[in-house]
Amino acid sequence: MKAALEKFFAQETDDPLRYAFERRGAHMLGSAGEAVSEEEHQLVWQEIQKPKRSGMAVMYLHVPFCANHCLFCGFYRNKWHEEHSAPYADALIKELELEASSTASQSSPINAVYFGGGTPTALHANDLARVIRRIRELYPLSADCEITVEGRIFHFDDDKIDACLDAGANRFSTGVQSFNTKVRKRQGRKASGSEAIRFFEGLRDRNRAAIVCDLILGLPYQTAEIWRDDLRTVVDLGLDGVDLYTLAVFPGSPLSKAIEKGACDPAATLPQQGAMYGEGLEYMHRQGWKQISSSHWGRQTRERNLYNTLIKSGADCLAFGSGAGGNINGYSYGIHGGIVDYMRCLEEGEKPLSRLHRTDPMSSPLNFLAAGIEEMRLDLGHLERTEVSARGFRKSIDSLLSNWQCSGLIAGEELISLTTAGRFWHQTLLTYLKAAFKLHSPSLQPETKTYQEEAA
Ligand code: SF4
Repeated sequence: MKAALEKFFAQETDDPLRYAFERRGAHMLGSAGEAVSEEEHQLVWQEIQKPKRSGMAVMYLHVPFCANHCLFCGFYRNKWHEEHSAPYADALIKELELEASSTASQSSPINAVYFGGGTPTALHANDLARVIRRIRELYPLSADCEITVEGRIFHFDDDKIDACLDAGANRFSTGVQSFNTKVRKRQGRKASGSEAIRFFEGLRDRNRAAIVCDLILGLPYQTAEIWRDDLRTVVDLGLDGVDLYTLAVFPGSPLSKAIEKGACDPAATLPQQGAMYGEGLEYMHRQGWKQISSSHWGRQTRERNLYNTLIKSGADCLAFGSGAGGNINGYSYGIHGGIVDYMRCLEEGEKPLSRLHRTDPMSSPLNFLAAGIEEMRLDLGHLERTEVSARGFRKSIDSLLSNWQCSGLIAGEELISLTTAGRFWHQTLLTYLKAAFKLHSPSLQPETKTYQEEAA
């Protein structure tokens, strides 16, 4: 075991933020259990709806359309056309209605709802509103349910914002990536930096919801000065939350091809990204913002980041919409990514399942590792006390933890906390911890695809 762990060791260096690893570990989605055959999908799906659900849960709705393919993105699926709006909203409502009355849907509150994509805010104002209202009519949302609409500035006009708020949305998450116009335009973003600022001022001044934006660090043309301006703009705008994501250039993506052809400057290297992350972390700390996860900060208590926290801890997720994925009552599932298949199944009154798996019992300890790394605080003692398969895990990876401690990535023994460098490399640490857990408990099933494989 000790020799096998050596490939997960960090390099011992004075500057772990920049140089702990040569490359980032791929993000693994979790453990895939036994697949249910396609012929049995609908029968088993009906059975899954019968037991009671317990514990905190979330709902995810996917809107898989985008106005254009942003250069850096690996998640583009379908070109948006205005005529998609009403039929797609009708389909989402039909899917919501199909399983709304089941015991699994009704037996326990849903704590967070998230509209993701693609671009949910491409939908028309009345279509966004009627889907949100129908969810609230049909499902047992908790009294403090976080209802997030993710979107981009282009398309998201005042009518849509007010329609979402009036229908019950209480959080907006917008991918701005950078406020610098040149950086934005080179990535295919249509709104200028000043338009982005005016957009956020409008959202903020309504004072009716938590306002969150994503910044990406390491984009082509994003100098250190531009990165500082981006951070300052978020703080000056008085937003409620911000994600600082590191750019990943997916092989074969439009950005990767543009860089290869020389049509675009290269992205920041990993050491440069590490330095930018460290600067961002220190700046947000100095401004009094609280770090909620390795990549997320909140200004005050209005921002809870509840959906993201729950989904990463393995909470039940009721999923709707073409390309969505969820898990409930011991099964994980995916919904057809092809719009035609998705619509056809709904017309036939069926859940549009593209896959259905029994949840691997090992997914529970792996989810625990993922949640701990995400929260920058991993209690291995608790894991060993609550999961039989984890007994002796701490001891079996002693050499790995010692290396990470000496390399400045983690601190602590049983209760491990991530240093600034550990937070930057959190995805790599998680990938290696999961791999180490598989070595410790070799009965683990193979992992499902990585995001990179999915996006390729
Ligand atoms: S970044 Fe968002 S809007 Fe742009 S292609 Fe990706 S999913 Fe679509």
